Amino acid sequence: MSATVFTGVRVFDGSGTPPFPAEVRVEGERIVQVAREAAVPREGARIVDGRGGVLMPGLVEAHAHLSWPTSVERFVPGMSLPEQDLVLNTARNARILLDHGFTSAYSAGALDRTVEITLKAAIDAGGMPGPRLVPSSVEREPPIESAMMDPGKVDEHGRGPEAVRAFVKGCAALGAKSLKFLLSGESALKPGASMELLYTEDEARAAGEQARESDVWLTAHAHAAEAVKMGLRHGFRVLYHCTYADEEALDMMEARKDEIFVAPTLGIVQATLDAVPPPHFDVRHMKEDAAIVLERQRRLVPELRRRGVRVLPGGDYGFPFNPNGRNARDLELFVRHLGYTPAEALSAATMLGGQIMGLDGELGMVRKGFLADLLLVDGDPCQDVAILQDKSRLSAIMKDGRFHKSPEGRQ
Ligand SMILES: [Zn+2]
Repeated sequence: MSATVFTGVRVFDGSGTPPFPAEVRVEGERIVQVAREAAVPREGARIVDGRGGVLMPGLVEAHAHLSWPTSVERFVPGMSLPEQDLVLNTARNARILLDHGFTSAYSAGALDRTVEITLKAAIDAGGMPGPRLVPSSVEREPPIESAMMDPGKVDEHGRGPEAVRAFVKGCAALGAKSLKFLLSGESALKPGASMELLYTEDEARAAGEQARESDVWLTAHAHAAEAVKMGLRHGFRVLYHCTYADEEALDMMEARKDEIFVAPTLGIVQATLDAVPPPHFDVRHMKEDAAIVLERQRRLVPELRRRGVRVLPGGDYGFPFNPNGRNARDLELFVRHLGYTPAEALSAATMLGGQIMGLDGELGMVRKGFLADLLLVDGDPCQDVAILQDKSRLSAIMKDGRFHKSPEGRQ
């Protein structure tokens, strides 16, 4: 069994407490020992001297779109690609997330029914670089190319509870684990749409019932308060945005805080505010909407945390102006806008990340028995969380006990 020992590191263990000097021993795919201010056995191990860097859990992206085309390595001026290019580009985006320290990704939907499921199988089989993946299926048709950002059409599965049931059953049979429903529309794309419900109560109930039967998780795009409540009533596990959650919605979220996860997706909001599009794109409306959303999130997220609801970074990366690979920016935005300390943002992206991946107690912390998904950081992200946006500051990236990126000079 392969073994690795990290020496000369300070460990950020994911809990949110400050980094402490320690040695860490990894055997096979798991962490077998964390020795605080002490040594671990070196037998049979490759020794990695961290030179004072911080060893921390790999990051988890809570709102991943690996099949959304644009990345930090490739600009695609729309949202669609020819089929084979889409598949290869999705695999490439998986590698890009891992290169940037994201050892896990929870999918918020794909542009193809099976691409993420096939990709996950290839990654898990070895030989294909990419994060641990909770795969999704298609939720909506690929958007048209003409717009800078287009919602596409709401899914293909037709109306009515039976059609919804069949869709959930079909996706589960294909191997999808997380199914995303747009319970509300999206005002960034169509003015006022965030307040509209796209599903009836009967349809949402059918989705919930079939998801439990098929053992898959439901994920909701939900801005409107009523969309948040609809998701909560029917067992949706992950709620994105929640922008207009009212007092009743907050109470319902608090009551189910041990079952649900929220990702506000600040990345796309900030990117919209920062975007300088070509002159022929009129994005005034999108920017106005983003400013409103950001203002609401600045009040909403602290209140959710006060109530004990688990809130995670994850920001809809993959759009032309918000590329895959920039994902770590969400942590900085949590600090800048939501009142998090860097350590709290890191804990949300790691410890809570392990929980959203369905691996509570096994993933997202540097603790004995946990899966060895680890980053060796040149510098201290608890001082400046923005350094994680520079992949050259990641001296080593380990997933499942194997190096995706080896420490410099030790290939
Ligand atoms: Zn999304």
